[in-house]
Amino acid sequence: MKYEVVMGLETHVELSTKTKIFCGCTTEFGGDPNTHCCPICIGLPGTMPKLNREVVKYAIMAGLALNCDISKISKMDRKNYVYPDLPKAYQISQYDRPLCERGHVDLSNGRRIGITRIHIEEDAGKLVHQRGKTLIDYNRGGVPLIEIVSEPDFRSVEEVVEYLEYLQLTMRYIGVSDCKMQEGSLRCDVNVSVRPVGSEDFGTRTEIKNMNSFTNISKAVKYEVQRQIDLIESGGKVVQETRRFDDSSGVTESMRGKEDAHDYRYFREPDLVTIFTDEERVDQIKKLIPELAHKKLERYIKNYGLSEIDAKLLVKYKRVADFFEESIKDLKSCRNCANLILSLIFSKFETEEQKEKFEIKVSPEAMNELLKLLEAGKIRNNVAKKTLEEMLESGKRATDFLSEEDLKGLSEQELKAVCVEAVRSNPNAARDYLDGKQKAVKSLIGFVMKKTRGKANAQLAEKFIIDIINSKN
Ligand code: ADP
Ligand code: MG
Ligand code: ZN
Repeated sequence: MKYEVVMGLETHVELSTKTKIFCGCTTEFGGDPNTHCCPICIGLPGTMPKLNREVVKYAIMAGLALNCDISKISKMDRKNYVYPDLPKAYQISQYDRPLCERGHVDLSNGRRIGITRIHIEEDAGKLVHQRGKTLIDYNRGGVPLIEIVSEPDFRSVEEVVEYLEYLQLTMRYIGVSDCKMQEGSLRCDVNVSVRPVGSEDFGTRTEIKNMNSFTNISKAVKYEVQRQIDLIESGGKVVQETRRFDDSSGVTESMRGKEDAHDYRYFREPDLVTIFTDEERVDQIKKLIPELAHKKLERYIKNYGLSEIDAKLLVKYKRVADFFEESIKDLKSCRNCANLILSLIFSKFETEEQKEKFEIKVSPEAMNELLKLLEAGKIRNNVAKKTLEEMLESGKRATDFLSEEDLKGLSEQELKAVCVEAVRSNPNAARDYLDGKQKAVKSLIGFVMKKTRGKANAQLAEKFIIDIINSKN
C-alpha cells in the first residue's frame, strides 16, 4: 500500500527582549550557571510575576508577520507538571486564550500551511548531565518564548524545512528572535502520522520532541515514517506517544505516553492580569514591521532584474539586504553592487553567523560613491574590485586613495595611443599574432592595462591592437 505522511509542527522561538518575561533578569545566552536568575524566575514562594510588555509586542509582531488575527482579550494560564527544570512545578503559558490565532505561511509549491495559534510562555531551565550527575542551570528559566502551532498540513519533510526556514528568516527580519537552532532559540516538536493515500482520516500521531537542526529533523522524520509504515504493514498499531530522536544511532525512541490537556490541570494564572489589545495598538505595532524577506525577494527579481539565486542570497541576511539597498541609491543598475557583495564581500566571511552580523568597514554611502565611479566609467571593474578590497581593509573611502589621475578616465583617443605604443614596443608579439598565434594579443593587452593602471577597456583595447597590427601589414 502507498502511504501519505501528515505532519504538524509546534515551534518554540525564544524572543530577544532584553529581560525575561516576568522579571528583570537578562535573557542573554550563556553566562555562568544560575547567574541570570532572581527569586521570581526560580519560582520562590511569595514572589509575584509581572508581564513584560515587550514580550506581548514581539509576539504580536510575530503574529502579524504570519498573517494571524490578534486576540483582543488574552490571558495567561498555569500548566502544571513536575520536572526539575521547572522549580515552581508549573509553567506560565497560555491555554484557551492565545494571543494570536488563524495565520498561515505559503510555501513555494503553492501549498498553504495553516497556523492554528501563537501563544507566549516562559522557557524552563536546562538540565546538564555531567559525569553521571545531573546539574540544573536556571539561566534560561523565564526567558520569553512564543510557541507557533501549525495545522497538520505538512505532507513532506521538504515542506517542513521550508516552513522552518521561512519562520527563521521572518523572525529575524522583524527582529524578535535570532532563531539560532544551535543555541536553542528555535526548536520544534514534529508530530508525525501516516495514512493510506486517498484516505480522509488522519492516522495516529507520535510527537518527536525538541528537534534542533534541519538535518536531524529530516533524519528523524524519515526514520519515524518508515517505523510507522512497517508497524502498520505488519499488523500493528501506532501508539500515540512522545518520542526522542537519538542522533548518534539515528533512531527515534519512546520517551513517554502522550499527556492530554487534562493531565496538565490548566487553570488561569491568578497573579497576572488579562491582556487587552485594541485595534489602535495593533495598528501601531503593524507599523514596526519592515518589508518581509519574501516580498523583498519578489521585488529584487522583478524590479532589479536579479537572478533568483542572487536575490535569495542577498535577502537571506537582513543587514546585507539593507546595505545593498542603501548602496544602490541613484544608480542605473544594481548588478555591480550585487556582484561585489556576493563575490568580494561575502568571501571575507567564513560562517553564516558572520554574514548575519555583516560587520564591515565600508558604509553604504562609501559603497555608493564607489559604484557611481564605476557606473560613470571613471574606473573599471578591476580597479573597483581592488579599491573595494582596500576600503574593506582600511575603512577609507575610494576617493581617499584613487588619485585624480585614476579618476580621469580614458578617452578612446588616449587608449588608441597606448595601443600604438604597445604594438610598437613589442614587435615580437605583433609578429607572433600575424603568424597565427592569437594568444600573442593577450600580452599586448597586458601592456596596455599596466600602462593605464587598469583603466582601459580590455575588449576595446584588443580591437584597437588587432586593427593596428593589421593596418601595418
Ligand atoms: P498537543 O499540544 O497535545 O501536542 P495539539 O492538538 O495542540 O496537541 O496538536 C499538536 C500538533 O500536532 C499540531 O501542530 C497539529 O497540527 C499536529 N497534529 C494533530 N493531529 C495530527 C496528526 N494526526 N498527524 C500529524 N500531526 C498532527
Ligand atoms: Mg504537543
Ligand atoms: Zn529573574
